[in-house]
Amino acid sequence: MKRRSFMKHAGLSLAAAGALAAPAIVRAQSAVRWRLASSFPKSLDTLFGTTEAFCKRVAVLTGGKFQIRPFAGGEIVPGLQVLDAVQQGTVECGHSASYYYVGKNKAFAFDTCLPFGLSARQQNAWMYRGGGLAALRELFRDYGIVNFPGGSTGAQMAGWFRREVKSLADLKGLKMRIPGIGGEIMARLGVVPQTLAGADVYPALERGTIDATEWVGPYDDEKLGFYKVAKFYYYPGWWEPGAQVSFYVNLKEWEKLPKDYQQAFETAAAEAHLHMLAEYDAKNPPALRRLIKQGVQLRAFPEDVMKAALKSAFELYEEEAARNPIFAKIYAQWKAFREEQYQWFTVAELSYASFAFPQKTP
Ligand code: CA
Repeated sequence: MKRRSFMKHAGLSLAAAGALAAPAIVRAQSAVRWRLASSFPKSLDTLFGTTEAFCKRVAVLTGGKFQIRPFAGGEIVPGLQVLDAVQQGTVECGHSASYYYVGKNKAFAFDTCLPFGLSARQQNAWMYRGGGLAALRELFRDYGIVNFPGGSTGAQMAGWFRREVKSLADLKGLKMRIPGIGGEIMARLGVVPQTLAGADVYPALERGTIDATEWVGPYDDEKLGFYKVAKFYYYPGWWEPGAQVSFYVNLKEWEKLPKDYQQAFETAAAEAHLHMLAEYDAKNPPALRRLIKQGVQLRAFPEDVMKAALKSAFELYEEEAARNPIFAKIYAQWKAFREEQYQWFTVAELSYASFAFPQKTP
C-alpha cells in the first residue's frame, strides 16, 4: 500500500515536472536577443535616445523575451557603415539615415529626404499611404534588408556661416561641410562642399578650414557649440525639409522572427518615429532662444540662392533618373505625390501658417 502510494505520487510528480518543463522549453525557444548598430553618438539624445527607448519598448511588448541591445555609432561599426553591417549580418538590425548611402544608390535619399522634397508630414503620407514604403522596400530588398520609418528631425536649419551670404555670388568658393545630394547641389552653385565626420566639424570651422557647416537644428547644433565660432545661423535647410531616419532589419533574421515579435518591432518603430519628431519640435524653440541670447544672428537665404538651388536640384534628379532605373521609378511616383501635397498644403497649411505664425498673440 505504502509502495503503491509512493509510485502514484512519483508518477504524479513526474507528470507535474513534465507539465512544468514544457512551457519552459517554449520560453527558451522564443527568447530572442539582437544587437542594433546606430549611426548616432550617445551625446545626441534626440537620435540615440530614440534608439534606446525603442529597444526598451520592444522588450516590454514581448514580456521581456525579445531583447535588442543598442550600440552607438562606432561601437560595433562606424556610424556610416550601418547599412553594410545589417546587410552582412554583423548585427541583426540598425538605426540610420539612408541618405548616408547615396554612394551605393542615389535612390536611398528618398528614404530620408531630397532637397526641396517632402516635409515630415508629407513624408509620412507618402511612406504609409502614398506607396513610399512599398517602393523603398523593393530597393532595400536588393540589400537583404527590410526597412521601417524610425524618426524624423522635421525641417532642418541651413547651418552656421562665418560670414554673411547676401546673394548667390557670395557662395562662390565658400567651403561648407555639407554631405550628400545637398552638397552636390551646393557645388553647382559655386560652393566647395566638404564631407567631415561629426567630431571634425567644430575644429575645422574654428580654424577657418571651412567657412560654414550644416548640422541639424538648434537643439543638436547647440550641443556641438558651432555658435562659438560662426555667428550667422541660416535658414531654411532646403536640402532637408523633413529628414527621416530608419530602422533596418536583416531580411533573413526578420523572416525567422515570430509574427508577434515582428508586430512588436513594427509598433515600437512607429512609436519611435512619432516621438522623435515631437522631441525635436519641443526642444528646438528653447534652444533657439538660448542661441540668440549668445549673440547668434538669424539669417534667411537670399531669394536668388533659393531659386538657383531649386532649379539645380530638379536638374540633378532628371539627370539621375535618366541613368538609374530604380531612382527613375521611385522619382516619377514621388514627384507626382509631391506635386499634389504641395498644392494641398498651400491651401490649408501655408495660408494659415503664413498669416498666423508671425502675428503677435492678441
Ligand atoms: Ca543636416
